[in-house]
Amino acid sequence: MTGVLIVGGSVAGVRTAQRLRASGYAGGITIVDRERHLPYDRPPLSKDVLLADEPVFPSLLTAEEAKNLRLELTLGVAATGLDVTGREVALSDGSSLGYREALVVATGARARTSPWQGLPGVLDVRCWEDAMNLRTALRRARSVLVVGAGFIGAEVASAARGLGIEVHLVDIAEVPMARHFGAEIGSLFVDLHRRHGVDTHFGTTIDELAERGGRLHARLGDGSTIAADVAVTGLGTELNTEWLAGSGLAVDSGVVCDAGGRVQNATNVYAVGDAARWWHPARKLLLRSEHWTSAVEQAGVVAHNILNPESPREHLSLDYVWSNQYDWKIQIAGTPWTGSHHQLVKDGDRFAVLWARDDELCGVLTVNWPQVAVRGRRSLATGQPMSQLAAHLAGRLLPSA
Ligand code: FAD
Repeated sequence: MTGVLIVGGSVAGVRTAQRLRASGYAGGITIVDRERHLPYDRPPLSKDVLLADEPVFPSLLTAEEAKNLRLELTLGVAATGLDVTGREVALSDGSSLGYREALVVATGARARTSPWQGLPGVLDVRCWEDAMNLRTALRRARSVLVVGAGFIGAEVASAARGLGIEVHLVDIAEVPMARHFGAEIGSLFVDLHRRHGVDTHFGTTIDELAERGGRLHARLGDGSTIAADVAVTGLGTELNTEWLAGSGLAVDSGVVCDAGGRVQNATNVYAVGDAARWWHPARKLLLRSEHWTSAVEQAGVVAHNILNPESPREHLSLDYVWSNQYDWKIQIAGTPWTGSHHQLVKDGDRFAVLWARDDELCGVLTVNWPQVAVRGRRSLATGQPMSQLAAHLAGRLLPSA
């Protein structure tokens, strides 16, 4: 029996534990994770970890830090079931763990299974082993086929080009990131890949992928064929919520929570991070974010609410994500896809795109322009109209004589 049981030992779970201790919680805290490694961060796995000369482990919590914080780590064991009434979690080794004060669900997501799962040379990247396998494979490869041009696929393509490897990038969408940014801004990403020497195939399927003679051979819907030494799929994610089946918790494209992370139909159960779908009081909808910053922010809110159930806090901030692709440092805040129109502001090699509904700013994308990213996030948080932010930027670009 522990005080707070956290299932999932990645950024959302670990930050919840750290915030509980920082806020003075003195009871027992146990983190259970099915991976056997100490907690680590995922964003570097598709970036620096692939490029580093030596294997890198992007640690999130060392054994010494865990000891100093009196965190009990139960690693290499998966949660398999939950009894909310009995306040008990069943574990894959046949044992079970009870909790007194709170359960925190932080089991995140995994890479979506591709139709070519198990085919030699076809990899994805979600955990540290995946990144190590990919790092090794890329060092032996002359060419790589990347399937999916979202964040992960684009970052892998970028890292592979950084290693001097020939890259073929295929996506069923006509332009990458169109779901987030629309076709016009998405086409800037097409140019980015092409400028860096990537062979791009957008708006087409992979009809066949087979291994012959130690190489992968793809036949595309557009009639072209590609041969590559390795393939990497970045097809999105699936949630790690199966272990909650039968528990009675509301799971609907994520564990359904109120604006303070409390699971809708259970007491003393909270959910954080990629697996959680929180009510956004200002937007009046349930939002699930698959980004590092949201996981950290939610962890802070949940730690507060476990300790202060009488004066709970709500999570009000909007999405924020960064991505490094080639020479672009990309920062995105808010929900660009909810905008009805956008404005592109260019300043030499850097640029920003602002999205709005009428004049209500709803999203900001910046490339190599961190000052505008900060300003954009502030504008989103304070409800500043798009025209005002655009005027501010124009003033910076065209100082009056
Ligand atoms: P996860 O990180 O998915 O962790 C969940 C943990 O739960 C895992 O350790 C898993 O082993 C464990 N678990 C799952 N099921 C069980 C179970 N039944 N029992 C016990 N343990 C279980 N975000 C950004 O904002 N910027 C980026 O640049 C960026 N880059 C990324 C690059 C990669 C390669 C990946 C994979 C993600 C990236 N992200 C990025 C997203 C970010 O890493 C995630 O939003 C974040 O990891 C979510 O944290 P989480 O703790 O909710 O879930």
